[in-house]
Amino acid sequence: MIATDAADGLPRLDIDLAAIAANWRALRARHVPGATGAVLKADGYGLGAAPIAARLLAEGCRHFFTATADEAIALRAVVPEAMLCALNGLASGTERDCASHGIWPALGSLDEVARWSAAGRAVGRPLPALLHVDTGMARTGLSAAEIASVRDEPALLDWVEIRFVMTHLVSAERPGEAVNEAQRARLAALSWLLPSVPRSLANSAGIFLGARFGSALARPGAALYGVNPTPGRANPMGEVVRLSAPVLQLRDIPRGATVGYNEGWLAARASRIATVGVGYADGWPRRLTDRGHAAFDGRTVPLVGRVSMDLTTYDVTDEPAIRAGSRLELIGTSRTLSDVAAEAGTNEYEILTSLGRRYWRSWR
Ligand SMILES: *Cc1c(COP(=O)(O)O)cnc(C)c1O
Repeated sequence: MIATDAADGLPRLDIDLAAIAANWRALRARHVPGATGAVLKADGYGLGAAPIAARLLAEGCRHFFTATADEAIALRAVVPEAMLCALNGLASGTERDCASHGIWPALGSLDEVARWSAAGRAVGRPLPALLHVDTGMARTGLSAAEIASVRDEPALLDWVEIRFVMTHLVSAERPGEAVNEAQRARLAALSWLLPSVPRSLANSAGIFLGARFGSALARPGAALYGVNPTPGRANPMGEVVRLSAPVLQLRDIPRGATVGYNEGWLAARASRIATVGVGYADGWPRRLTDRGHAAFDGRTVPLVGRVSMDLTTYDVTDEPAIRAGSRLELIGTSRTLSDVAAEAGTNEYEILTSLGRRYWRSWR
C-alpha cells in the first residue's frame, strides 16, 4: 500500500460521500409518498458499496439493493438491521446463505418463488422477499401468466413473506415515452394480487416522472452518484466523482512526429505531449482514442494517439503552465461524467462501473 502522503504522484479517484448523502436527501425529499432506498449494485456503481452504505445508513436510509446475493452478504456487517435486497433474484444454490444473512431476494420467477418457499419450510419460518413482476422490461420478473398462477395457487407463497411487489421502468429517463405510464398502470392493475402489500416502482429517473410514479419504496442508484436523472435538462444532482492524474512526463516533439501505438497521431505542428498513467486497464475507455479530452485549470486539452493499457497522452501545446506533476482532470467539474460518456459513446453508468482498481481512492 502506498502511504496517503505519497499519493501526490498517483492518479486518484475522489469520492464525495457528503455529496452522495446530499443527493440521497434530495431524492427522498422529492419521493414524497414512500421510503427511498439506495441501489449499491456493482460495488456502489464502482465507487465503493461499503463506505457508501455506512454513510447512507447514518443519513437514515434503511433499504439497500444489490444485484447479487454475494454483494448483499458483503454489506450485511455494514448495515446489520437494514433491508438488503438482491435484485437479480435467488440464484440456485444461494438459498441457505440468503436466509442465514437475512437477504431478501427479488423473486423473479416461479422457480425462485418455489425455492425460497422450500428454504422457508426448511428453517421453519416464512422468509421475507420482494416479488418482481415484469411490466415491460422482459429480463427478469414474473410474467402475467405466472402472476395468474400465483393467484390461482396461493399455496405457492406459503413460507414466503412478500414485503414489496416491485417492477422496473424501462424508459424513465425519457418522460415523453408512453411506456412509463403503461408500466405504472400495469403495476397498479395488480392490486388484486397481494392487495395489502406495498409497491416499489421508481429508479432514479422515475422519481422525476411526477407524483404518480411515487410508491412505498423508490430504488435510486445512478442519481446518488451524480448521474443526471433528467437527461437534456440541467443536472439536479450534486457532483460526486473526481478523477485526476498527474503528468508523468512532458515531451516536445517536432512537426511530423507521431504519438503512441501504430503511429496513431501525427503532429501537424511542433507539439508538447503530456502522458498520464491511466489506460483502458483502469476503465479509461479505448474508445476515447482521438476524441477524448482532459481539463487543466478549467480549459480542455485533447487526447491524442491511442489510449493504451496503462498510459494516455494529451496534446498540451497550448497550455504552457502544465509541468511534469501537474494534475489533469479526467472527470470532474470541467470534464463531467456525461462529457466523458458522450465522447466514449456510452452512458455514465458504464464509465462509473468500469472505474479501475488501481486508482488511489479517497472517500471524504
Ligand atoms: C439498477 C436498478 C435500479 C437503479 O436504477 P438507476 O437508474 O441507477 O437509478 C433500480 N431498480 C432495479 C431493478 C435496477 O436493476
